[in-house]
Amino acid sequence: MKAVVLKAYGGPENLALETLPDPVPGPGEVLLRVRACALNHLDLWIRAGLPVAKPPFVLGCDVAGEVAALGPGVVDVKIGQRFAVHPGRACGTCGACRDGRESDCPTYGIIGAYRGLTGGYAELLVVPSEHLLAMPDAMSFVDAAAVPLVFLTAWHMLDTLARLEAGETLLVVGAGAGVATAAISIAKARGARVIATSTSRDKLARAKALGADEGILHPPEELARSVRKLTNGAMADAVFEHVGGTIFGEALKCLRRSGRLVTCGATAGPDATIDLRYVFDRQLRIFGAKMGSLAEMRRVWALVAEGRLKPVVDRTFPLADAARAHEYLGARGQFGKVVLAP
Ligand SMILES: [Zn+2]
Repeated sequence: MKAVVLKAYGGPENLALETLPDPVPGPGEVLLRVRACALNHLDLWIRAGLPVAKPPFVLGCDVAGEVAALGPGVVDVKIGQRFAVHPGRACGTCGACRDGRESDCPTYGIIGAYRGLTGGYAELLVVPSEHLLAMPDAMSFVDAAAVPLVFLTAWHMLDTLARLEAGETLLVVGAGAGVATAAISIAKARGARVIATSTSRDKLARAKALGADEGILHPPEELARSVRKLTNGAMADAVFEHVGGTIFGEALKCLRRSGRLVTCGATAGPDATIDLRYVFDRQLRIFGAKMGSLAEMRRVWALVAEGRLKPVVDRTFPLADAARAHEYLGARGQFGKVVLAP
């Protein structure tokens, strides 16, 4: 099969299209012909040197495709059926796994990322049949590949951790990121009010088209002041954070008393300065989030399959142009997911 291999840590030029042996499904596994694979910022961090996987390595956490072969013991799946793939892997037996918190499992892995699990920048991929997510006929492979990682993470953050309720106000920072578009979709589906922020007027317009009620152009607009104005002084009930850097501390100041901030990333940088007086005086709650469980994946996938949640795709690149896709995502001009469609 053809696959894009990360040859060494560094720039996009280290991604090379190569021919690898076709993988063979083992017991309980299926061989998928990959039809689309979405990029994540995680791919860029690993390429740049995040040592969760060692080159040579095939990236790609978000996969959709059709079944090309069945491993021994797989009876409930047919050749040619179309699926997206739950990206997480866990032991299934430790305390965290038994408690439904697989991403806390000491052996937790993500295909195309952690623990050397090979990913979807390839024509073929072996996956456990229990991780398959059935695609409705009307769904395209590109849309399906845009779903798993960001919708799983956003669902875990808003449903499980922040427990966002109808009528509450959610501030979504960095509205153009795939995970933020998933958050807007989930928050609107449950009847929350969404205030989106972006550095780009165009992205704010697209966030509103997706359902965001208000937009803050930040900078130059000041976050807490704008939220105060838009909420008549009530401030936000919850903040959806994934940007990090200076945004984190500013976003904290947008919360009401006992407000919740959930965070899953730091694309603008891992160091944040926060004013602790806000944290204790307003009795804020800060939740860190990484992925979610298979049960959460199935719940949010069902809502996507019913058309109640909508993936957002910015653009696609051919598999052979993975390096160009990395450059494009790295420039952070996108709104929604960037997808490789071989
Ligand atoms: Zn476990």
